[in-house]
Amino acid sequence: TAALMAGKRGLIMGVANDRSLAWAISQAVHAHGGEVALTYQGEALKKRVQPLAERIGCSVVLPCDVTNEASLDAVFADLKQRWGKLDFLVHAIAYSDKDELKGRYVDTTAENFNQSLFVSCYSFTALCRRAEPLMVEGGSLLTLTYMGAERVMPHYNVMGVAKAALEASVRYLAEDLGRQNIRVNAMSAGPMKTLAASGIGDFRFILKWNQFNSPMRRNITMEDVGGAGLYLLSDLASGVTGEVHHVDCGYNGIGMLAVDAVGE
Ligand code: NAD
Repeated sequence: TAALMAGKRGLIMGVANDRSLAWAISQAVHAHGGEVALTYQGEALKKRVQPLAERIGCSVVLPCDVTNEASLDAVFADLKQRWGKLDFLVHAIAYSDKDELKGRYVDTTAENFNQSLFVSCYSFTALCRRAEPLMVEGGSLLTLTYMGAERVMPHYNVMGVAKAALEASVRYLAEDLGRQNIRVNAMSAGPMKTLAASGIGDFRFILKWNQFNSPMRRNITMEDVGGAGLYLLSDLASGVTGEVHHVDCGYNGIGMLAVDAVGE
């Protein structure tokens, strides 16, 4: 039988290092026969992304800062010329000023609100618009979100608001693109110790809390993220769109554990 992703080509954005969620998905796609192009944000990250790209036989490594329209256009012009089509796209990008990932949400500044929503939410819409004409055989678009969109989590603040907007945008995008067989979904991942997460206050406590209170009594792994990403990007999920798929060892379903079950 042919590999799950054989003949499929896609763009994965948001690899910063080997702990990035985007890297987990890149490895899974490659292991199942897919071809991946990667982007990096700025020269400093190029040094980290280039050797990772080589590990998955990826020769298309392009600079892209989503706040720069010209760099977005350049990526899609390159892919159009190189491949002529696109089958999947992963958006694993978020940003907020670290100073506002602690303290109170009510103190969010207008400047950081705009910047956070632009980078963490609008950029996905901007990418979908550019991917659409290249997804001539249909396609799958995937973004990464967090439960802080649905419920209050400590210190997540403006990022929770940005993720709520992102999840709503997934549903609108799914409707806009569905008739062309282009699917749009979000993976709501449990907490993982990445570069971006290190900016969130008390992150180690959040990890412990999830470990002790989720039905599986553990945190998620790179393999968990890779497997779910692969499913959503592949034809296995051919009838799935507009969905927010939790990959969190079941934590989102828990209200409260029995006193003798905590940490068991
Ligand atoms: P990460 O630091 O490895 O990745 C974040 C990426 O965003 C980096 O590659 C960075 O270069 C990129 N980025 C930020 N601003 C950008 C810009 N202007 N232009 C281009 N790229 C930009 O961290 P991660 O945890 O893998 O984050 C990936 C996604 O997963 C984010 O959307 C994050 O919110 C989400 N997520 C993370 C967790 C977690 O606990 N780590 C949980 C749920 C969801």
